[in-house]
Amino acid sequence: MDFTKLPKATVSRLEKLGIRQPFDLVLHLPLRYEDETHIFNIADAPMHASVQVEASVAHSEVSYKPRKQLLARVIDDSGELWVRLLNFYPSQQQLLAVGNRVRLLGEIRRGFHGDEMIHPKIRVVSAGTALPDALTPVYPTVSGLSQPTLRRLIQDALAACSLHDTLPAELVERLDLEDFGRAVRLLHQPPPEVAQRQLAERVHPAWLRLKFDELLAQQLSMRLAYQRRRERTAPVLTPTGTLSESLLAQLPFGLTGAQQRVLAEIRRDLASPYPMQRLLQGDVGSGKTIVAALAALVAIESGHQAALMAPTEILAEQHYRKLADWLTPLGIEVVWLAGSQKSKAKAATIARIESGEVQMAVGTHALFQESVGFARLGLAIVDEQHRFGVHQRLALRNKGGSPHMLMMSATPIPRTLAMSYYADLDVSVIDEMPPGRTPVRTRLVQDARRDEMVDYVRTVCATGRQAYWVCPLIEESEALQLQTAIDTHAQLAEELAEFGVGLVHGRLKPAEKAAVMADFVAGTLQVLVATTVIEVGVDVPNATLMVIEHAERMGLAQLHQLRGRVGRGGGESNCVLLYSAPLSETAKQRLKAIYESTDGFVIAREDLRIRGPGEFLGSRQSGAPMLRFADLERDTDILEQARDVAEQLLQSQLAVAEAHLQRWLAGREELLKT
Ligand code: ADP
Ligand code: MG
Repeated sequence: MDFTKLPKATVSRLEKLGIRQPFDLVLHLPLRYEDETHIFNIADAPMHASVQVEASVAHSEVSYKPRKQLLARVIDDSGELWVRLLNFYPSQQQLLAVGNRVRLLGEIRRGFHGDEMIHPKIRVVSAGTALPDALTPVYPTVSGLSQPTLRRLIQDALAACSLHDTLPAELVERLDLEDFGRAVRLLHQPPPEVAQRQLAERVHPAWLRLKFDELLAQQLSMRLAYQRRRERTAPVLTPTGTLSESLLAQLPFGLTGAQQRVLAEIRRDLASPYPMQRLLQGDVGSGKTIVAALAALVAIESGHQAALMAPTEILAEQHYRKLADWLTPLGIEVVWLAGSQKSKAKAATIARIESGEVQMAVGTHALFQESVGFARLGLAIVDEQHRFGVHQRLALRNKGGSPHMLMMSATPIPRTLAMSYYADLDVSVIDEMPPGRTPVRTRLVQDARRDEMVDYVRTVCATGRQAYWVCPLIEESEALQLQTAIDTHAQLAEELAEFGVGLVHGRLKPAEKAAVMADFVAGTLQVLVATTVIEVGVDVPNATLMVIEHAERMGLAQLHQLRGRVGRGGGESNCVLLYSAPLSETAKQRLKAIYESTDGFVIAREDLRIRGPGEFLGSRQSGAPMLRFADLERDTDILEQARDVAEQLLQSQLAVAEAHLQRWLAGREELLKT
């Protein structure tokens, strides 16, 4: 089978379906099936179920009452039936010409004239035309590519491609798997006796085999990426421990058990000669920053440099402040590198990073990737990496060896996702909050009661506490979003004239942003009006109230992050989610989830359930081969099995692993890169 011999239009339509080579056709599986293997007598056919009858057309007319429609009466030996087409082409009229013998596939319902089928599938046959001996597959397709064409192409591909089993017979037997070739053939042409329900619910052994193979390919590619990383070298970091001891002595708190545990995991990796790629997960407020600082000290004590990168300048700046506070007293030089800095100052800072004088640099990712070559980068820390995607690996320029990487995320990744898309990373989890946190009370309030909420802000601020007021997300237009923030600020400044009301948004110059944030931290501003720029990382323990306007427009992770800005000090904290009715079904589910739980993992699981993994991971993750057959919610058992088998194959049957990957990822080599 040769794609170059197909018409260009067909090739481009196939491409839209993700089909670029014959084997892709083999894996293009039906959405559902039509049963044309059986003919019912009209009189005996069940109502409201898909059935096929064979009858002759006794009457056919175009009727205009109540609207234009084609109406035909067909009869078989047992009875009669009406066929009604509301929109029709002349060609369909021909199919229903009086005297024709037709096979009709559709649902019979009670109609005005009697029992009828509306828009059945119609085929003209002659007496004795053989019935197919398999169910008829219905494939996902695009316009211009008909089912019969697609079916024929797939049949050709099934004949042309080798459908041998990539797995050894012993393994297939041990796991009680269906044979691969049998499985795909069955799915494309199921014999009539196959339980359709098993096919529809994808629990038929043939489906299970495809899901297993798909997950195995995913696990193999992720584990191979992991192994390839272990072939590269990274500096072995041998810290003295003196600086971290001083830092710990200086802190007003002791580390939680969870913080100590993850730190030990990180230190162990840093002492090994291949690059760490560890994901540090911890809910909002779980205290990842101090862990990052102590990890940086491992590099610095070993005579290497450390870098911390954040997605936005506002967040990078916060990290810079905190790290400078902690590390400067230890005699460490911490520098700040921002896109907005004057080019002369920036060049000077970069020169000092490149000479190795600077031990710790903080800034935004983009900047580091573009313009800085480190002299001796030992550890790169990436905050809120979920915004970038795990697969968009950072290519840091480092003189000599790959640096160790620590990625931090406050978006908890549900276990199944961690096991699949993140299988090439090591994961540490901070599963314990620092003591003294107060659970945040969440309230859902319709926006008609906005005025009451302004009063509420006044009451809270009168007690010496502070509040955030988050402006709605307006996806269509950044300009509009900015204007809304400015208007909201002006209005609140008037309504709450007795307090200092500040405004921070994405368009402020970094210095202006920093000044506003500093005033809020110092308490000279009591209310901070913000766009979602405060979503990540901002830490002001005295702020105990968060009001979010148009909460129904925000994603679950975003709401959880925003709410995490409060409840950080002592004192009761509240989060008010203002929403505007009517709510869409998904918005309702999201608000319910955020209202019912403050546990990031529970919320992430709900988020995954509501959105599915593709969206959950975000388009930035497009490097990750999305699963087509397996469902991470339902197929956890298969995933676990695939993971174990992948591990075994890589250890003792590498050729099998390679053959399997070749089949599943051929033509998609980009997915194998890291
Ligand atoms: P996140 O994990 O969201 O980045 P942070 O690192 O910003 O959280 O920490 C949140 C707050 O908790 C900070 O004010 C930090 O100083 C404080 N903190 C961190 N660890 C502890 C601890 N073990 N005990 C008390 N407070 C802590
Ligand atoms: Mg943080």
